[in-house]
Amino acid sequence: MRVIFLGPPGAGKGTQARELSREWGVPQIATGEMLREAVAAGTPLGREAKRVMDSGGLVPDDVMIGLIAERLRQPDAARGFILDGFPRTIAQAEALDRLLKDLGHSLDAVLYFQVSEPELLRRLTGRRLCRRCQTAYHLVSAPPRRPGVCDRCGGELYQRPDDSEETVRRRLEVYSRQTAPLLDYYGGRSLLSTIDGEGSVEAIAAAIRRAVTEAR
Ligand code: AMP
Repeated sequence: MRVIFLGPPGAGKGTQARELSREWGVPQIATGEMLREAVAAGTPLGREAKRVMDSGGLVPDDVMIGLIAERLRQPDAARGFILDGFPRTIAQAEALDRLLKDLGHSLDAVLYFQVSEPELLRRLTGRRLCRRCQTAYHLVSAPPRRPGVCDRCGGELYQRPDDSEETVRRRLEVYSRQTAPLLDYYGGRSLLSTIDGEGSVEAIAAAIRRAVTEAR
């Protein structure tokens, strides 16, 4: 199972990847999450990435390609993976093709999560995440049972610094300019399926399972 979850920020890639990686027994490889961990640990990568992430831009391709090359060589990724947040540029997609070729693997499917822009803005600006297990909540449409506390693990909820309205607008612009061209890149190779990202979490998971079964 080697799949890419592609789509704008706030489309629900992380939520679905977290659930389906458990179900499928393959790791969720979320580059944004890896970068946030590096920022929290204060590593050189974290220091380099923080300013770019806070402004809503993209971390340079060479840095991201190095990071993903190292991650895909870990033993747990040998049986498959869900890529969540990578690739985000054509250069990253080309590097991924080369990397998979070197490893003797190929992609099974690319799933594009389609969500309207007003809905993305609404989701991201009201989003709260668990610091410990990364479960996502929404202040209005999916609040936790106790304010500020994760239902699942009791962890503290926080707002990502890049989920402010101004930064969200910039992230959506960067997505349209740099990441949306990947739809043609993968569409041209018949790997792409579009998933309606506006239903319930369970309905979306069911659509993903169907698309992946058909693709394989
Ligand atoms: P995410 O958690 O996927 O929304 O990513 C958060 C931030 O991390 C993005 O806004 C980028 O600044 C950075 N980032 C994550 N993945 C990538 C990538 N593949 N290429 C460049 N920057 C990335």
